[in-house]
Formats: sequence, structure tokens, C-alpha cells
Amino acid sequence: MLSVIADGPHRDGEADRRRAAEALAARLPEPLRPLAHAAYNYRWSWTPGGADCFERVDPERWARLEHNPVALLTTASASSLEAAATDPDLVACAARLWSEIQADLDRPPAVGAGLGPRRPVAFLCAEFGIHVSLPIYSGGLGALAGDILKEASDRALPMVAVGLMYRRGYFRQRIDAGGMQHEHWTMIDPDLVPGVRVTGPGGDPLTITIPIAGESVTAAIWRVEVGRVPLFLLDTELPENAPLQHWVTARLYDGDSDTRLSQYALLGAGSVRALAALGITPGVFHLNEGHAVLAPLQLAADLASEHGGQGQAIEAARARTVFTTHTPVPAGNDTYPAEQVLAVVSGLLDELGLEPEGLIRFGRTDADNAEEPFGITQAALRLSRSAGGVSRRHGEVAREMWRELWSDREVDEVPIGHVTNGVHVPTWIGAPVRRLFDEQLGEGWLFASDPTAAWEAVDRISDEALWRARCAQRAELVAHLRGRSLDQRLERGEPREYATAAAGTFDPAVLTIGFARRLATYKRLDLLTRNPEFVLALLSDARPAQIVLAGKAHPRDDEAKRMLQRVFGLKRARQVAERVVFLDNYDLAEGARLTRGCDLWLNLPRPPLEASGTSGMKSVVNGGLQLSVLDGWWAEAYDGTNGWAIDGEVDSDPAAQDARHSDQLERLLLEEVLPAFYTRDADGRPPAWLDRMRRSMRTLGPRFAATRMIAEYVRGPYTGAP
Ligand SMILES: *Cc1c(COP(=O)(O)O)cnc(C)c1O
Repeated sequence: MLSVIADGPHRDGEADRRRAAEALAARLPEPLRPLAHAAYNYRWSWTPGGADCFERVDPERWARLEHNPVALLTTASASSLEAAATDPDLVACAARLWSEIQADLDRPPAVGAGLGPRRPVAFLCAEFGIHVSLPIYSGGLGALAGDILKEASDRALPMVAVGLMYRRGYFRQRIDAGGMQHEHWTMIDPDLVPGVRVTGPGGDPLTITIPIAGESVTAAIWRVEVGRVPLFLLDTELPENAPLQHWVTARLYDGDSDTRLSQYALLGAGSVRALAALGITPGVFHLNEGHAVLAPLQLAADLASEHGGQGQAIEAARARTVFTTHTPVPAGNDTYPAEQVLAVVSGLLDELGLEPEGLIRFGRTDADNAEEPFGITQAALRLSRSAGGVSRRHGEVAREMWRELWSDREVDEVPIGHVTNGVHVPTWIGAPVRRLFDEQLGEGWLFASDPTAAWEAVDRISDEALWRARCAQRAELVAHLRGRSLDQRLERGEPREYATAAAGTFDPAVLTIGFARRLATYKRLDLLTRNPEFVLALLSDARPAQIVLAGKAHPRDDEAKRMLQRVFGLKRARQVAERVVFLDNYDLAEGARLTRGCDLWLNLPRPPLEASGTSGMKSVVNGGLQLSVLDGWWAEAYDGTNGWAIDGEVDSDPAAQDARHSDQLERLLLEEVLPAFYTRDADGRPPAWLDRMRRSMRTLGPRFAATRMIAEYVRGPYTGAP
């Protein structure tokens, strides 16, 4: 089995995981015991049939516990466990699941170019979207981080990851009848987390300490298995910490800026300290976003004894650090007043032997400008050997945006490249399409040495088989939406007639359009409803569309919340009540349902603010077609035949741009999308739509899969190329 353990006593938590799984197994009837082992490795979540094994134990409890297998097996009644143990299919399923996971873990690791089991990539990120049962993610950044870990595991790439264990996670969203968003946070139960606290040689919890804001803060280390990749999560909810310090790892993207800076200090310096305490020596540190920017400075302090001076130690640390920037939106590139940063990290700087001014200079665009605040992106750009955006267009935008850091260079020579994002196909693909691909593309299609050639087989799939899979996935979504829309509308206190409207009308044969993403204003959810007459006509046409919307606004983003309320303003119209559903609490599970079920996936960002976007890629692998602004990934993906596009020009007049884009959107929907979907052959299938689907899957599937992304990270940033 892959091991990242240095010689000496095992202290990386692997033994803790085994003990926890054995303790859980002891509670189960013997035939179910393999499930306890599988429960502690999220590999089950992307093994075909893996979720079904757990669900069969107790479907109602499985749904209620948000698909958390440790919680399921810990709390299931003795009688349901006994009953499950007599179900031969379930017993076979459990044995097969654990043996498949073991076989995966037993593969030899990929090695080369300075990386190997003893020199893994350390992937640092403020959020990880591994699974809905581990609520330590908010949106695209986390979903991408989760997909990178899973793909690294599939490719046997030696990788470890470090993040924070937010005890209250990210907020849950409830919308009221007026369209106002309300947020609440729920505490996770540490006894039910599918992970373990790492103990040291004496059996006590392994901890690290870090000075933060004048106090010494202690953090315990959790270990969560993501296939072959261990994810370590730092946790300050400890009795030795003062109550305020528990808040360092309480909430993801806490609104309080001192708390956020404390989180960044812990994530940055703490991840390097934690890996050292675990006995792990990474070959490369990947800062996924700038939040962990103190990591290279902690590393430099650790390397100082090997190197002559501090300057050389920082160079050595820089030579092991790579950075990915994820957004051109200013709010995503946090800056803080220098005094505020120093109030949080001055004790840490003392320990690192770094002058306060030295740190602040890294974070200013113009290091000499004493007026400038500290920016985490600037600091990360200065402290990494390689930096990049997340799509070709975002690379260009980022070079333009940060060119002043290299004032002696032309914009083309700014050293910021890009690796376009991709999605982890086994996670996002729906079961009907997966079965079809397993049949038609050949069993090994996910590991094909030439993915482009493997996906070409999509062209040979018959109309009948392709349409059957598409309709099956749409029908699953429609069934879900009927139930959820009723529940959520009644929860909002809506009148019964309105509450039941969509439950009665959502139709598995109707063109289903999805728009789901973080509700930042630049994503322009309201572009869709700018012209109410058009929307009403679209919904009530003889060949109608039905629309599903979802997304969370940041708790402090009042403008985004108002945008949501404007959209809700239309809801009393009968057609809207019947054919538009807003789904509360967009998360990984809803994201998967929507991208599997929708026929058309809309993305309407204001260019050039969409760095990449990944939900559309999830839709592609399920046969969804894209209608998107030519921004982010779509700018390099669209070829005129594999979806539909709205112009991506930058426009200094946002109102004029909105008007132009909504005209283009309406024209495309009326003149192209609806006719392609509803023009049917003698067998009731839409030949033009199916052709475009094949074209989309074949040209986009291999290019926007995480397999390609990981290969590019390995060839480029991870192995030394700039
Ligand atoms: C994929 C995903 C995202 C990112 O989608 P974008 O296209 O970047 O908006 C956000 N949230 C969830 C829950 C996702 O699954």
C-alpha cells in the first residue's frame, strides 16, 4: 500500500484509521464488516454501486444522515443491521466494495521527476468538496479541490492534502417566501465524521501550536481518506484553547476579518508544521488559492539551518511552491491593512525570524508603497516558483491583472500561466450514462492511454441508447424536484396551491434548463428573468421549457441577495409557479443531481470575471448541452457545433451588455434550442439534439476531465517546469 510515512514510528494516522474502522466493524454483524472499512475511505463514493451498498442498509436513515456512512453504521439499529446481514445481495455488495477499494490502494504509486511516495505533492486549500457528508466547502474552489484529490488518487499520484476542519462548516441556506436568504450553521458531530483524529506515539492526540493574535493556539489533526490521498484537517476545537480560539476553525469563510486572517495563519504555517509532525516531507507545496500563503515562509524557516541566509532559505522554499489563482473578482483576492495582518501574525513572524515589513512587502503590488494593504494573491505570486490561472482566458486576464508586479516586463511575459480546470468524471457522471459508456467505450475507458480516441466511440452510440440514458437521468431529477419543491415551498409558508404547483407539473418529457452556482452578482442569475414576458412565453409554449435554479449568496453580499429577491418577484405567475423551481441549499449532492438531469446548462457570467466554471463540465459528461457566455472554460471549449455561445466581449457599459446578452439568450433559446429539442423523428427522438450531444461529449469530455488537468499539473508546475 502507498505509504508516505518516513522511517520510524507510524504517526501519520494510518493506524488510527485502522483502529476506528475495526471498532466500527465490531458493532456490525460479521457479513457487514467490510462496510465499516469502506466507510472510512471516500473511495466508496466514486466506486460504481458504492453508495447503493450503504443505502440498502437503511435507506431512510441514509438520506437523513446526508449519506454519511460512518454515521449510518454507528447509529443504525441492531434490528436493521441484523436484517441487512441476511440480504445476500447486500453482503456481496459490501465484500465487493471493500475488495475494490483495497485493490485500488494496493496499486504501486506513480513516481518520477522528483515526486514519489516519500516526496508527495502537498495540496493546501481552505476548502475541500469531497462529499456532501463533509461540509467543509462552499463552491467551485472546494469542488475543484475535491476533484483534484480524487483524480490524483486514481492516477496513483503521491499526494497529501491539508485544510481546516470547520466544526460548523459552511452555512446552510433557507429562502423565505419573499426570496430572502437566511443562513444557519450546524455543528458537526465529531464522533460521526468519516475520519479520525491522529494520535502520537504515546496515544495522545498529535497537535501543533501556532502563535495567533498574541496567544498560543493548539490544533489537533484529523485524517480523512480520499482514496489513496490522505486529507489532514486542522482543528482548534480543543479544551486547551480559549473559547475565541475555537472560532479559528468554526466556519468556512467567516465574515470576521480577524478570524479569517487567523484561519490563513493556521492553514499556511500550520499545514507545514502538521506535515512535519506527521513525518511527511513534501516535494512540492501547491497553494490552491492564496489563503495558505504563509506556508512557504514556514518552510523557509525550517530550511534556514540548511541554507546560508534567510534570503536563500526563502528562495529554497519558493523553489518548492506552486500557486493557482482562482478568480479575477476583487472580493476573491483579499487584502488587509498591514497593521491588522501584523496584529494576527507578529508572534508567528518572531518564530519564523521574519521582519514585519518583510512580510508586508511580499503582499503589496508595489512593495515600496507604504499606503498599500497586504494582498494574499500578491504574496502568493511572489512566494511561488510557478503560478497559473484556471483557464486559458483566465491566464490572460491574470497576466493583465498582476502585471504591475513585474513592471519591467511586457504583459505577455508576466510569469503566470494556466492549467484549465477539469472535473472528476467518476464523481459526476450519472449511473445511466456511466453504464452506457462502460458498454460502448470499453471497460477501461476512464484509464485509456489516448482519452480522445476513447471518447470518439460516443459517435457510435445509437440515438436510441443515448436518448434512453438522457431521459432516465432527466426523469430522476424531475422526480427529485417534484418532492423537494413541495417540501421547500411548504417550509417557506406558501399557500398550498402554490406549494403543489411544480410538484404537479414538472414533467420528465419537457426540456429542462439548469442554472445553479454561487449567487455572486457577476454570475447574473437575473439575466434570465430580465424580460418577464419572454420567460412566461418560454414556460407556456406548446413546446415549453422548465427551469431549475439554485445557489447561495455569501451572507454579506446584499446585492446578490437582492438579485435573488428580484427573481422570486416573478413567482406568482402561474407558469412560473408550475415550471420554475428554486432549490434551497445548493451543495455537492444537489449539484450532482442537477448536472446529471438538466438538458441545457446555462452560464451567464459578466466577462471576463468567470475564471473557469466547472459545473458546465459536469453537465457535459452527462450529455447536457451548454449555452454560455464565451468566458472561462467555454471560451476555449466552444467550436460552433458543440453547444451555444453568447459573446464574451468586455464591455464598459454593463447595462448595454446585459441588454445585448439577454437578446442573444432569447434568440438562441427560441430559434435553436427549442427547435432542436422538440423536432422529433418517427421514433419520437430529436436527431439534431442528439447529434449536438455527441459532438459535445466527444469534443469536450476528454479535454475537461480532471485526468487531463492532473497530467498537465504533473508535466508542468509539479515537476519543475515554470
Ligand atoms: C461544481 C460546483 C460548483 C462550481 O460551479 P461553477 O460552474 O464554477 O459555478 C459550485 N458549487 C457546487 C456545489 C458545485 O458542485
